[in-house]
Amino acid sequence: MITENAFAKINLALDVVSKRSDNYHNLRMVMTTVDLYDRLTFEVLDEDTIVLSSNRYFLPTDERNIVYKTAKLIKDMYAIKAGLKIHIHKSIPVAAGLAGGSTDGASTIKALNELFKLNMDMEKMKEIGKQIGSDVPFCLYGKTALVEGVGDIITPLPEVPRCWVVLVKPRFGVSTKEIFQNVNLETITHPDVDKVVNAIEKNDYYEMCKHAGNSLESVTFRLYPEVESIKQKLLALGVDLALMSGSGPTVYALVRNEQRAKKIKNSFDKKHYEVYAVRIRG
Ligand code: ATP
Repeated sequence: MITENAFAKINLALDVVSKRSDNYHNLRMVMTTVDLYDRLTFEVLDEDTIVLSSNRYFLPTDERNIVYKTAKLIKDMYAIKAGLKIHIHKSIPVAAGLAGGSTDGASTIKALNELFKLNMDMEKMKEIGKQIGSDVPFCLYGKTALVEGVGDIITPLPEVPRCWVVLVKPRFGVSTKEIFQNVNLETITHPDVDKVVNAIEKNDYYEMCKHAGNSLESVTFRLYPEVESIKQKLLALGVDLALMSGSGPTVYALVRNEQRAKKIKNSFDKKHYEVYAVRIRG
C-alpha cells in the first residue's frame, strides 16, 4: 500500500495573457502549495478493476473522478492487468480554485509510477499530467514556480518568504470553465508577474504582497459578488495581502504570524464559510 499527500495550491499571480486558437488561454502564473492536503491510499488488486472510494459523498467514484481517469489512462498506456483500490480522504474544498482535483491526479501518477515500477521521469509524468488537467504539471512539481503556457511550462522559483495563509471559501463552488468563458481580454487587469517573481527571488515578503494579483478576480467578482465581500472583509482586518486563488471562489490572506492567522480565521462564521489557517509550504 502507498499513501500520498496531495497538497492544495494558491496563485500569488495569475495573468491571462491571450486567447489561443483552440480557445484555451495562455497564462502566466506564480503558484505555490499550502499545508492543506488530501490523503490518498493505493492498493494493488489481483482483479483487473479500479475501486475508488472517498470520504465525500458528492464526489464521483467512476470515470468522472480525475483519480479514476488518471489510473485508467496509465493502466491502458502500460497494459497493466492488475487492479487498484484507491481511497481519497478529501480535505481540500472542491471547485474552490485550489486545484483539489489536479493535485489528486498528480498524486495518482506518482503512486502508480512507484507501485508498478514504471520508471517514468518527471517529463513523462508531466506529459501524462497535461492530458488530465492544466494544473497537473504544477502539482507534480509541487513547489513554488512560475507557470506559463497552458500550465505546462514550469520554471522553479525559490521558496516563498515564510508566512501563514488564511483560506476563506464561501459555501458554493465556481466552475473554472464558466469564469474563463466570461473573460474579456479588453477589460481585464494584468498583474506584473515579473515583479512578483523578483520579490520572491529577493525573499521580499512585502514586495511580493504588493505586486500579487489575479486577472480573474474582476470576472468572478462580477458573477459572484460575495467573493469580493470576502476580500473586502480580509482587507479591513488589516492583512498583508487578500487575493482570490485561481478562478475562485476561495480568497486567501497572507499574514506573518500564526496568532494573527488564527484570529482572522475565527472572525469568519463557519456556517457560511469554510476557513483554514495553514502554513505556506514554499
Ligand atoms: P482549479 O484550481 O484547478 O480550477 P478547483 O479547485 O477549482 O481546481 P476541483 O476541486 O479540482 O476544482 O474540482 C473541479 C471539479 O472536478 C468538481 O466539479 C469535481 O466534481 C470534479 N472532480 C473530479 N475528481 C475530483 C477529485 N478527485 N477531487 C476534486 N474534484 C474532483
